[in-house]
Amino acid sequence: MFSLPVSGQVVDLRLRAGWDDLLLLEQRDETEAALQLVARLATDEAGRPLDTSSLPVTDVEAALLEVRRMVFGDSVRADVRCLAPGCGKRVDVSFQIGDYLGFHRARKPRRVEPAAEAGWFRLAGSGALFRLPTAGDLRWLRSRADGAAELARRCIRPDGLAAVELGRIERALAAMAPSLSNSVRGSCPECGRGLEMYFDVFHFVIAELRSQAMYLFADVHLLASQYHWSESAILDMPAIRRTQYVEMIGGARA
Ligand SMILES: [Zn+2]
Repeated sequence: MFSLPVSGQVVDLRLRAGWDDLLLLEQRDETEAALQLVARLATDEAGRPLDTSSLPVTDVEAALLEVRRMVFGDSVRADVRCLAPGCGKRVDVSFQIGDYLGFHRARKPRRVEPAAEAGWFRLAGSGALFRLPTAGDLRWLRSRADGAAELARRCIRPDGLAAVELGRIERALAAMAPSLSNSVRGSCPECGRGLEMYFDVFHFVIAELRSQAMYLFADVHLLASQYHWSESAILDMPAIRRTQYVEMIGGARA
């Protein structure tokens, strides 16, 4: 169990099953796949599903990183090409999810106080109100052409605030709900120049999980052929158990 960094909601994750792998393979939109996967796997302490659409986007990113930790562990490794002229070497950039979450910790800025309406905040000494963008906002926004302006209309009151106040709200949002999709820096061991990789949580984690889920159909085929279990019975199984049976069949054949 862990606490989400912004809302403080305590979350438990159930084991990934075949149906979750199927979602990863069949939902080609990675943002939608990420939102749906977190909604399926995350529960509260009592095992009840969470209303993920009301969670701040940062919390959904954090929950997806915890799913990633559960499947592949804490260590993230990515391969980037050094862009320094004349170098072009491929470099491993690696970091620990725990360190990364610690580095992007949410904090409450001074001069921000809770407003009367639940989930809303007020800038001290100003009539300006705001709330944190949620996963529900993110999904809604994707269907709109003028996303940024629409998001501001949903999350900031009143309309038409001065640029100074909007700037204060932007800084408060960045402190209270820092995006976990961010640059990771390192240096090239070949030429010593600085390197930067953009770590997009939804893109990175969904790609990794999809590469794992690719074995699903072969697993179902093998288990159905061997044990004559139905497709849905196999998909109901935690992925970890499915893999065990597949390995046992492989071992017996060898
Ligand atoms: Zn280099």
